[in-house]
Amino acid sequence: MQKLEGVYYNFIGGDWIEASTKKRYDLYNPADTSQHLGSFQLSGAEDGRKAIEAAKMAFESWREMPSPKRAEVLFRAWELMKEEAEEFARIITTEEGKTLADSRGEVKRSLNVLEFTAGEGRRLLGDVIPSELPKNLIFTYRRPLGVVAIITPWNFPLSIPVWKIAPALVSGNTVVFKPATSTPLTAIKLVKLFEEAGLPKGILNMVTGPGGTLGKELISSQDVKAVSFTGSTETGRWIYEDAQSAQAVQCEMGGKNAVIVDSSADLDLASDGIVQGAFGSTGQRCTATSRVVVLKDVKKELLEIVLEKTSKLRVGNGLMTDVDMGPLSSEDQLNKVLFHIETAQAEGAKLLMGGKRLNGEAYDKGYFVQPTIFDDVKPNMKIAQQEIFGPVLAVLDAESLEEAIKVANHSMFGLSGSIYTSDINNAMKYVERAEAGMLHINSPTLGGEAQAPFGGIKESGLGQREQGRRAIEFYTDEVVVYIDYTGRKREAKFI
Ligand code: NAD
Repeated sequence: MQKLEGVYYNFIGGDWIEASTKKRYDLYNPADTSQHLGSFQLSGAEDGRKAIEAAKMAFESWREMPSPKRAEVLFRAWELMKEEAEEFARIITTEEGKTLADSRGEVKRSLNVLEFTAGEGRRLLGDVIPSELPKNLIFTYRRPLGVVAIITPWNFPLSIPVWKIAPALVSGNTVVFKPATSTPLTAIKLVKLFEEAGLPKGILNMVTGPGGTLGKELISSQDVKAVSFTGSTETGRWIYEDAQSAQAVQCEMGGKNAVIVDSSADLDLASDGIVQGAFGSTGQRCTATSRVVVLKDVKKELLEIVLEKTSKLRVGNGLMTDVDMGPLSSEDQLNKVLFHIETAQAEGAKLLMGGKRLNGEAYDKGYFVQPTIFDDVKPNMKIAQQEIFGPVLAVLDAESLEEAIKVANHSMFGLSGSIYTSDINNAMKYVERAEAGMLHINSPTLGGEAQAPFGGIKESGLGQREQGRRAIEFYTDEVVVYIDYTGRKREAKFI
């Protein structure tokens, strides 16, 4: 097949190939839509099946390889990614829109995950369990599951694929990876990195295209033994119910994360965390700060500082060094965010800042909106309940910490949360009661470290958490083995 300039291909069985549909789609830089990024394969169900078949064929040889050897590929990928870190960051910014600083942070996170997970190759540990019988031994042993389908969103086009693919591989599984339709460029660069790192053919396969047909094929195949998904709650719920032949399914989904600020908080620190959490990555993080619940006696002072800091944010093309907030990542995102802003105004929330699409030479070709803050938000308003996934912050208030926790918990989501306080008793009350999978004390709602579990509760997460040691648990079966080395027949008294 003749390879065309600016055209990108699927990766199946170690070859870069065209989709069976013979169809492609085009993508453009969200900060400057006159910049064409490439044409990508619009794959269909048949391509999904081919990728699964290739992964199935490769499974036996990969599972036979000792895990420390499998880990060597990850170490090489880690080294290569370090060398190419800046190029990865530029691709992420060009494709997704976030600032270079945010993209560099994402690359660093991916490196940390690769480093930690490669180490897991020498730690695929089980337990040795004492037996009640003489000369008997019980131990547990981790086995890979088989072909794993990995389906990822656009907002972290590198780190989320890495934190799913790396533990799947080191545990001995083979992978079919479907990146988000709007961020295949970063995904292709990542797959090429694994190829260069020496991953044998068929172990990692990638197909680009729409979730509806292609994604459906991946989750409904009898040959797919695990599905790891990150994306919206709507899609995640559907996948969790539909992926019936998979033995393990995990879905990391939306968020509506709240920061509580109590009367004892350092307001300078709190306002920094709020502004970073709400407007960093243009609010397009699952752990972004979407709500602030502040105690009434410090509300006026906090809002003054938050408004002042927000007004200094510079919006523009993320590739420019003096920019703090990039564009939204697509036209759909832009329309969705503007719709939520309109709805909030119609519901009676008070617009304190922003609320509009940005115009002018620097903005006209991209999907830029102003950082937006609403006050007088009531807990039942849509702006306090629905995930916006953009640079929009809702401010609510409360009379007491108990009420603030109640307001923060009044959400179908439960991904991350944060409290700013200098009172340890309040911090611990929050830890005991806040309904979210990841809690922060005196730091933003954002982020997580590679060695710690990541994930949410309620409508934010279904199934086993990701990352840290939990990842290996997800991608393996734990079998229990009983060895009897007495060499004698056993008395028949066992249940
Ligand atoms: P999305 O649900 O639209 O898409 C996610 C992935 O699923 C994409 O690859 C998409 O093509 C695929 N998909 C869509 N429909 C499918 C179907 N029917 N079958 C199989 N696959 C299908 O989400 P998105 O817009 O790409 O991402 C934004 C969402 O992701 C936000 O809700 C955000 O909160 C969430 N997110 C969550 C986390 C987390 O860890 N909890 C992290 C990042 C993003």
